[in-house]
Amino acid sequence: MPPRLTVHLLAVGHCRHVERMALRGGRLRTIVFPSIAVLLLHPQRGAILYDTGYADHFTAATRPFPERLHRWLTPMTLPPAATLVQQLAGFGLAPADVHTCLISHFHADHIAGLKDLTGARFVALRADHAAMRSASRLGGLRRGMLPALLPSDFDARLAFADDAPQRDLGVAFRAFGSGHDLFGDGSALAVALPGHTPGQMGLRLRDQDDREVLLCADACWSAAAWREHRPPSRLAGLIMHDWGRYRRTLQQLHELGRADASLVILPSHCEASRLDYERRRGSA
Ligand SMILES: [Zn+2]
Repeated sequence: MPPRLTVHLLAVGHCRHVERMALRGGRLRTIVFPSIAVLLLHPQRGAILYDTGYADHFTAATRPFPERLHRWLTPMTLPPAATLVQQLAGFGLAPADVHTCLISHFHADHIAGLKDLTGARFVALRADHAAMRSASRLGGLRRGMLPALLPSDFDARLAFADDAPQRDLGVAFRAFGSGHDLFGDGSALAVALPGHTPGQMGLRLRDQDDREVLLCADACWSAAAWREHRPPSRLAGLIMHDWGRYRRTLQQLHELGRADASLVILPSHCEASRLDYERRRGSA
C-alpha cells in the first residue's frame, strides 16, 4: 500500500478579485483569493511542498517596469506571520528542510517562495517549464509569469514529472490519461491539468485520514466551479493559455467529482475548501 501523506493547507498571502470574474454568475463584490501552499509530510522522505504561495520576493520582482504592472493588477497581501518561512517554523521546519517542491505551474502567486527553499529539488511538467522559458519578458508578464522569482540555479535543480514512471490512475480518472509516480512509491501521482497553462500539474494522493485527494491548482478557482460546472467569466479567459482546453479540464473535474463523491478536490485559491478540509482533519 502506498504511504499516506499528511496534508497541511497553508494560506500564504492573498489577493482580491471580483467574484464574478472567477465564477460565472458570481457576485460583483471582491473576495479574498488565498495562495495556498500545501505542506506534505511523507513518512520516510519528510517535508515536501506543492507550490509556495506568495513571498516578499514578489515585491522585489515587481519593482521594475513593466513587471510593476503585475503588482498593480493583483496587489499582494502577506502579513509577516503568514509567510511560508513562519508557517513552516510552526511545524518545526526550516525552509532548507523541504527536500522537494512540486510546482503546479509557473504563475507568480504559486512560486514566489522558491528562493527560500535552498535545499529543495524542483519538479514540474515539461510543457510548463518550456512555455515559461520561451516567453518574452512582456509575453510572460501578460501570462502572469515572473522569471525573476526563480533561484539562479533553478534549471540545474529541476526534474520533469514527465520522466517519472507512468501509473494507471483508475477508472474515474480515465479522461486525465495516466499519472506519473513522483517518488516511486505511489504516494504522489502527477496529473496533467492543461488549459490554465500548457502543463499545469495536479497531484493525486492519499492523506493522513486515508482520503483520496486531488490538488487541482488553478484548474478551477472554487469548489462551486467544479461542483456546479461554472467556468470563470470570459474576461478571465484572457489569461488562460488555452480557453477551450481549460473548459474541457473543468468539465472533466466536474465529471470526476460526480463519479467519485469521496474524492477531495482542492483548488489553490478556494478559502472555503481550505477551511473545510482543515476542519475535517482527523474526522474521516
Ligand atoms: Zn495560475
